[in-house]
Amino acid sequence: MSIEVSGLIKRFGSATAVAGVDISLPAGSMLVLLGPSGCGKTTTMRCIAGLESPDEGVIGIHGTTVFDRKAGIDVPVYRRRIGMVFQSYAIWPHLTVFENVSFPLEMQQTPKAELRDRTMEMLEKVGLADYAKRGASALSGGQMQRVALARSLVMRPAVLLFDEPLSNLDARLRDRLRVQLRELQSELGITGIYVTHDQQEALALADSIMVMEHGSVRQTGGPVDLYRAPRSAAIAAFLGYSNIFPATEWRAVDGGAEVTLASGRRLHASGDLPPRGAPASLCVRPEQLGLRSATADESPDAILGEITLASFLGATTLYRVRSTGGEVWEALTDQVVPGLVKGSTVVVEPAPGALRLLPQT
Ligand code: ATP
Repeated sequence: MSIEVSGLIKRFGSATAVAGVDISLPAGSMLVLLGPSGCGKTTTMRCIAGLESPDEGVIGIHGTTVFDRKAGIDVPVYRRRIGMVFQSYAIWPHLTVFENVSFPLEMQQTPKAELRDRTMEMLEKVGLADYAKRGASALSGGQMQRVALARSLVMRPAVLLFDEPLSNLDARLRDRLRVQLRELQSELGITGIYVTHDQQEALALADSIMVMEHGSVRQTGGPVDLYRAPRSAAIAAFLGYSNIFPATEWRAVDGGAEVTLASGRRLHASGDLPPRGAPASLCVRPEQLGLRSATADESPDAILGEITLASFLGATTLYRVRSTGGEVWEALTDQVVPGLVKGSTVVVEPAPGALRLLPQT
């Protein structure tokens, strides 16, 4: 394993920012720490980088222990061979692109020819070779972030840490850079930890995702597994499940549960039943809901409602439907269904097995 963290605890005064986190990350893979603001993502990463001193725990990088409170080991930041890319680009506007990227090599007194080759190699990789001589202040936000990335990579770090590096960029650029970053990460075999609260970013970049809440890890898994099977409604909400309805009661039936919502509507959910006594919600992803025009003789079980929003997104269309029971359902479909416009009366049809009853937390 390339990064091994066990029992990591970090307190600030009486507040516990990281409450016992374990990480086991193989070389060449990207772990995304995902979670709401204040859940401890950045603090976890700063502890790995050596920018915070943990209260407890052991941190190993490529088989070397860099922190162990009990053994009194605390390797300083500059000796951990860690590269970092932050939200703010932190590049020097008065230097050229080349000078910015070659700066760390300059500091290490790398021989001139090697410095030039390594710098140009990295500028090629991030698509900025033609900009080498340009002043860094005359760059777009996306280009500045690529300069920052090249500057981190030129040091050939053992590990790269990313703290929301794309969050200051506009949406289109973010989407493009996300793909480029993923390409570069797999091409160069970068071992990385990436902090974000953006689920799209997490799903697109991760080999594995660790969802955090209140300083603890709530669920870890591959993007597909996590997306398909979140362990709780809180995690589901974080992964883009926009249909989450509190259940007032439920009982086991064949292969799942009959769930009652606040409106009195009863629906069949698949999967295991959550424990009794704790709140639970019915959850479904928007792309697992179909819509069709209602007929005059719908069954009483049909989820009947009125379209309150139809938003064409290009490849898909997002519909919002207020059902007769008062729930607002969100459906995302890649089919253009004639007659489905704002004000139409429709039936919401969950895909078989798509409704899941999950504990709230
Ligand atoms: P965000 O997405 O907003 O950056 P985060 O998940 O990265 O949030 P952290 O920055 O790790 O969260 O913060 C975790 C908790 O620790 C928060 O409650 C925060 O207020 C607290 N915290 C972080 N740094 C400090 C500090 N230097 N002193 C005191 N409290 C801190």
